[in-house]
Amino acid sequence: MRNTYLPYGKQFIDDDDINAVIEVLKSDYLTTGPAIEMFEKKVAEFVGASYAVSFSNGTAALHGACFAAGISSGDEVITTPITFAASANCVLYQGGKVIFADINPKTYNIDHTDIERKITPRTKAIIPVHFTGQPAQLEEIRKIANKYNLVVIEDAAHALGSKYKGKKVGSISDMTMFSFHPVKHITTGEGGIITTNNIDYYNKLLQFRSHGITRDPKLLHENHGPWYYEMQFLGYNYRMTDIQAALGVSQLNKLDSFVNRRKQIVAAYNESFTEMAELQIPYQLPDTDSSWHLYVLKLNLEKLNASRKEVFEELQKLKIGVNVHYIPVHTLPFYQQLGYLKGSLPEAEKLYEEIISLPLFPLMQDQDIKDVIDAVKLVIGKVKK
Ligand SMILES: *Cc1c(COP(=O)(O)O)cnc(C)c1O
Repeated sequence: MRNTYLPYGKQFIDDDDINAVIEVLKSDYLTTGPAIEMFEKKVAEFVGASYAVSFSNGTAALHGACFAAGISSGDEVITTPITFAASANCVLYQGGKVIFADINPKTYNIDHTDIERKITPRTKAIIPVHFTGQPAQLEEIRKIANKYNLVVIEDAAHALGSKYKGKKVGSISDMTMFSFHPVKHITTGEGGIITTNNIDYYNKLLQFRSHGITRDPKLLHENHGPWYYEMQFLGYNYRMTDIQAALGVSQLNKLDSFVNRRKQIVAAYNESFTEMAELQIPYQLPDTDSSWHLYVLKLNLEKLNASRKEVFEELQKLKIGVNVHYIPVHTLPFYQQLGYLKGSLPEAEKLYEEIISLPLFPLMQDQDIKDVIDAVKLVIGKVKK
């Protein structure tokens, strides 16, 4: 057995990252400086989008996207329950109403046929989430959005470096959010970004993350002089620092190698588990190329004498830091208080009982991978029927 605990995710920081941060600390700008512009330019270039606007975290970025999309009181936005709460919370921040569509039981991503069933005259936007890194079915979602005149905001917190039909995620929909929390593909400590090809969204996002204030001469109603700015709507201070942005630039240089390592680990897991009837490895649609934020193993419970909880606890005892992604958002106490019903999204609720996320991060050593595989085989071997 291992003598150290293996977490499910962890950042990869090297001397280049540390030096990039030190450079900024010695420079004139700790915030609103050149590192921010550099980071935004590099992310936009990487995903193939025209613009990028950085935020203090991914949740703030989603809030900004909902504002830019014009979500307001009474507007309905459709998203998936198999996600982190932020994908839905951002709608509530704007006074909108969250409508959950069920998942496709094969991909675990939002089921586009259920999106269409849930559209009403008040529907304004769709927030598909690329769960684990596998892109949602964006072509089908685009068709629905065009038909009903909806904005598509991708929650791509799991999908930096993923591709859909050969195109990088971040270049496809109206707006796309990436998160730079330490468990994500690259980190800035906390941080997020919206990429877009639409200059109106771009300008709104810039203004929203800085109190609703602008100094852009084209946007001003008056101009009293060089000091003059206008606060034109209620925005927030959602800015990223240059310290974070410099770390982000340095991390982005390593993204390809991070994704390659994640793919190697996934290939090793798949190879080991594919023949085990008690387990279901993650299904990938042929049109998608995932950058693999998470490896979600599904238990075929009818072939086991144990629940997911027991398997989870046995793996934890072996110091394998398994996790569960996610508790369906509509079943969280706050959403229950809002009136969302358990039983209303059967595929998502069923999936929740069956899944375990295995450790997956680029710093994992070959021995770590082997430890995970051995532990899963040991635990499943003990409880299989
Ligand atoms: C991480 C994450 C977010 C929010 O990102 P933060 O940067 O932590 O605010 C949103 N959606 C999903 C699916 C995430 O995994």
